[in-house]
Amino acid sequence: MFTKILIANRGEIACRVIKSAKKMGIATVAVYSDADRHAEHVAMADEAVHIGPPPAAQSYLMADRIIAACKQTGAQAVHPGYGFLSERASFCEALEKEGIAFIGPKVKAIEAMGDKITSKKIAAEAGVSTVPGHMDLIEDEDHAARIAAEIGYPVMIKASAGGGGKGMRIAWNDAEAREGFARSKSEAASSFGDDRIFIEKFIEEPRHIEIQLIADSHGTVLYLNERECSIQRRNQKVVEEAPSPFLDAATRKAMGEQSVALARAVDYQSAGTVEFIVDKHRKFYFLEMNTRLQVEHPVTELITGIDLVEQMIRVAAGEKLGFSQDDVKIDGWAIESRLYAEDPYRNFLPSIGRLTRYRPPHEGTSDGITVRNDTGVTEGSEISMFYDPMIAKLCTHAPTRTEAIDAMADALDRFEVEGIGHNLPFLSALMQHPRWREGRLSTGFIAEEYPDGFGPVPPDDATIKRFAIAALLVSHIHGERTARISGARFSQAEKRAHEEKVVRIAGHEITGHVDHVDGDYVLRLPGREPMIVLTDWTPGARLATFHIDGARHAIKVEPADAGWRLRQLGVDLRVQVFRPRVAELARLMPEKVAPDTSAFLLCPMPGLIVSIAVNEGDEVQEGQTLAVVEAMKMENVLKAERKAIVSRIAVKPGDSLAVDEVIMEFAK
Ligand code: ADP
Ligand code: ADP
Ligand code: MG
Repeated sequence: MFTKILIANRGEIACRVIKSAKKMGIATVAVYSDADRHAEHVAMADEAVHIGPPPAAQSYLMADRIIAACKQTGAQAVHPGYGFLSERASFCEALEKEGIAFIGPKVKAIEAMGDKITSKKIAAEAGVSTVPGHMDLIEDEDHAARIAAEIGYPVMIKASAGGGGKGMRIAWNDAEAREGFARSKSEAASSFGDDRIFIEKFIEEPRHIEIQLIADSHGTVLYLNERECSIQRRNQKVVEEAPSPFLDAATRKAMGEQSVALARAVDYQSAGTVEFIVDKHRKFYFLEMNTRLQVEHPVTELITGIDLVEQMIRVAAGEKLGFSQDDVKIDGWAIESRLYAEDPYRNFLPSIGRLTRYRPPHEGTSDGITVRNDTGVTEGSEISMFYDPMIAKLCTHAPTRTEAIDAMADALDRFEVEGIGHNLPFLSALMQHPRWREGRLSTGFIAEEYPDGFGPVPPDDATIKRFAIAALLVSHIHGERTARISGARFSQAEKRAHEEKVVRIAGHEITGHVDHVDGDYVLRLPGREPMIVLTDWTPGARLATFHIDGARHAIKVEPADAGWRLRQLGVDLRVQVFRPRVAELARLMPEKVAPDTSAFLLCPMPGLIVSIAVNEGDEVQEGQTLAVVEAMKMENVLKAERKAIVSRIAVKPGDSLAVDEVIMEFAK
């Protein structure tokens, strides 16, 4: 066994690998860029080596610097994590030359599976069911339209070197096939330095289900069952689970066995994942094989009890797998939520900045429920533009899917993140979504369920009542505290704390009264028996647990204009609490009206203007392309929302814009 390994990655996955190495008694070496000098993975490792400036191309992707770091520290093996150098055959080769082990598959397997066109051909030869389509390169736009029509619309246009959902577009007709081909090609060239494009059938009502494999160097290849990853935006995963609510035992076995056959065809060893798209009839088709540890591997670990990183290290050291296919079980249900620094209210566009507050829920197991949080950040960390905007992977494991979902909802409510835009509201809302809870998934779930974009969850009556109670209690406790510290005006403040209050919430007014009797808070609402409400809230806390009518609720509490901002289960409300006299006056105040921005095309994300497709004075039709903005290596086509006349163009290609900067103006 190795005595020291180097982790050629950063963030949560570097921390994750270090944990398993520590458990195995192996010393660890981290590498870091200037941006990561104070990062968690550096603090966790036994040693750390600086490898360059923040851009990945000058640090985490510099194979020679990583090899030099191995030599300098005496690391005998490298774990590449995911992304970066994890699927670079040349890196693997260079390590081999130096006699350093690569904790992953062999060069040949990485090469064969790294290219979507090649891997699809190998899969077909190995008897794996593949997506119908054209297996060769597409030359130009005309060729794209011709092949697409032959395959039959809708089709998926893909980059052969693609990954991370980039360089991929669906087309429903010839015009979209042409535009999609051009966009995918240019995106693939800029993201992967390889602009080869192919086209396959778009599988309708698709579900993304993948098989986790583990193989050793002695010929044993096992499948560790499936994960379903159908909750996606921009063809990228956000929420994953294991097992899949859709598979039956026979389909699972068939997918597992085909995956094993593919792995055997390329002499696979280490952990790997075979991704499939599954249609509504449970027919499954090979998409690609990822020859590395996958982001969502924790859900498999939770249901199988197998530490995948440990197994990868053992296999790389030449050990045999210590278990067989029959030992691989499915125990309970696991869910992973990827917490991203991206704003769900703005079409999930990335957001960057400092985590002014970062308090994950408690990890561990109690009453059969496990909470696990894989992360690489701490409070005060910066989410920078240089790397992936993932903040954490929150997982729950429970005996059943419903229990795992409820545990996730609670863990999300307890997760405090401030300082940057993030997708917690979306994840929370999803956990309550009936279609998700029923397991009726497809990769189009987000687009279908939120056709006009994700917005705040409207509160139901029970939530309004619960939030009103929480607001009354919080205001009361806050009032008592104010009374205690206000000295001279003690009696008046004390009196105010105990007065009846009016809560204004989501267009309702609820009158209530709180008393502090023998250490308990007794709440009186009109027409109801007095009730005791327990809470651990203290002034200044941003998270509180309330015990209301026998149920426990974690609600986020923030001071806001004349009251509180309360958040739970994806509901986000500003609640005002007044004394009755003030409530009367407040009723007379005019409501704030948001400015009308429909006369402008605003830049939806920080980005670079690639092109402007119209001129001043043009009349544009609904759906017509107006401009292309590049952000995070993606080209985003901005289209007209309605018929209009372009009165002014405010930017030119090459300009870099901030969020909400005006790109063009329309005549009214
Ligand atoms: P999966 O593992 O299921 O394929 P993704 O495709 O969402 O999940 O994530 C893998 C991608 O994450 C990589 O292809 C890369 O674009 C990105 N990535 C690379 N390095 C890192 C890193 N250190 N942390 C987070 N993401 C990374
Ligand atoms: P990447 O390398 O970017 O992960 P994949 O080929 O794995 O690319 O596809 C990513 C996602 O795109 C899939 O999970 C699925 O949602 C969607 N997708 C890809 N190919 C198809 C297809 N032929 N039909 C329907 N959806 C597809
Ligand atoms: Mg994929």
